Amino acid sequence: MSAKHADPEYRKNARIIRGQVQQRRKRDDDVTCWRCGRAIHEEQTFDVGHINPDGGHSLDNLAPEHRYKSGRCQGNRAAGGRLGAARQQARTAGTKGLLPW
Ligand SMILES: [Zn+2]
Repeated sequence: MSAKHADPEYRKNARIIRGQVQQRRKRDDDVTCWRCGRAIHEEQTFDVGHINPDGGHSLDNLAPEHRYKSGRCQGNRAAGGRLGAARQQARTAGTKGLLPW
């Protein structure tokens, strides 16, 4: 678990979102993935994701999304991995920039 997801505000609000998802499923309402706008089916695992990755852990920045890549949705885990890779690349590029050759 990343530090971001250990944040008490995230944990509290993620629990609320998960509760809302459960309520919707009980009522047979669709649960929509904010990332791709499609339904998250009951057999699909979901994560409580950040709509804006730097937007904090408030309830209005958290929403359910597909956990794994499926169909046209890249899924939460893939997106997080990509963000990490991009940050890693930026760091590497920054280091390279310091070298004269
Ligand atoms: Zn999705």
